[in-house]
Amino acid sequence: MDKTFEVTILGTSGGPIDGNNQSFMVRPAFSKELNSINVDGGVVISQIIELVKYMKRSVMNIHEGSDGLVESFYENDMEHERLFTNPFHDCQKGFGTNFIKLVIEKLNLDRSNIDSINIMRVSLQIYEKIKEYYVTHAHLDHISAIVLNTPYIYSKAYSNKTMKICGLPFVIDALDEHIFNDKIWPNLTAEKDGRLELVKLENKQCSQIKSIPQFSIIPFTVCHGQSVSNETVPVYSTVFVLNDKISNNTLVICGDLQHDPPTERLNKISNVWKYLADYVKPQSLSGIIIECSSTSIVRDCQLYGHLSPPLLIEEMISLRDMYCKKYNTTKPLIDKILKLNLIVTHVKMENMDKDPRLIILEELNELKEAHDMTNLHISISLQGYTYLL
Ligand SMILES: [Zn+2]
Ligand SMILES: [Zn+2]
Repeated sequence: MDKTFEVTILGTSGGPIDGNNQSFMVRPAFSKELNSINVDGGVVISQIIELVKYMKRSVMNIHEGSDGLVESFYENDMEHERLFTNPFHDCQKGFGTNFIKLVIEKLNLDRSNIDSINIMRVSLQIYEKIKEYYVTHAHLDHISAIVLNTPYIYSKAYSNKTMKICGLPFVIDALDEHIFNDKIWPNLTAEKDGRLELVKLENKQCSQIKSIPQFSIIPFTVCHGQSVSNETVPVYSTVFVLNDKISNNTLVICGDLQHDPPTERLNKISNVWKYLADYVKPQSLSGIIIECSSTSIVRDCQLYGHLSPPLLIEEMISLRDMYCKKYNTTKPLIDKILKLNLIVTHVKMENMDKDPRLIILEELNELKEAHDMTNLHISISLQGYTYLL
């Protein structure tokens, strides 16, 4: 399959450590424009600065001792990146090679004099090219940097007319009522020039992404546990299905979510799998970015609206079964054409001996073998890495 989507991971952790919360910068692979969209935004400008810093050093051919290593801080301070990434997946540290070329060309940077670039200016110019944010739910680990970064769009240097935060009504209402309310954060949406716009999307309705016309997006409401103060009140989140009109390939990006509760009739993750089986050809499913917050040792009742490896594998089996049903074929035959590229996010960084990201990946790979899912390729997403899917 041709690579269609370029995803730079600005943040991926499921907490409780700050500084690496969920945030994905997405653009067409081999795009000719600098525009990206962001799905969630637990970290934005601070990580773009790290990426530009790394870009500057790599263009200058400065190699560091930590190249190929990932910060872990459990058994070992650093672990090799190949422990986290599947060999089938095309990923690299920093921005993608094509994007770096574009940044140099579009921002008129002098490659031969790259050591003189102003990292802050370049980072903010890249930030300006994110004109639309798609938010899965309003939990702080998914929105904090979007909010903290907003004063920049009122600076003189900001050249766009508007920045849009888009989400299902339960997301936009929460931002409107509880964040941009002049108490938690200034109500920038009330500024007369309307630079910050909150946009309500409709459940299961396709909308055009304005800043990247070849992309369209469909939000699906899914369940994400219950309220702490009242267990009868459900918490919802979103799965975004992103389609590229040129290749007709599809990328699925999930917010926090849980296995479908028996009480829920409408907002089920199984609706997303059914949609994919019905409308996305197996050869056109580029990848699924999905959470797996805890290791298998955590009991289902303690997941608080998240997935663990056995539940995630169950979801993938359910997706495969729906494709089998749709194409009226057997598992071995569907496995030949349906390659499931999973990029796992939102791992909770607990106080334990071994890096939970590595435990989760081992558990997922064992379960995948046990269920004979040879078509499933799994990586753990890494902050500051770019994946071509
Ligand atoms: Zn959440
Ligand atoms: Zn979260």
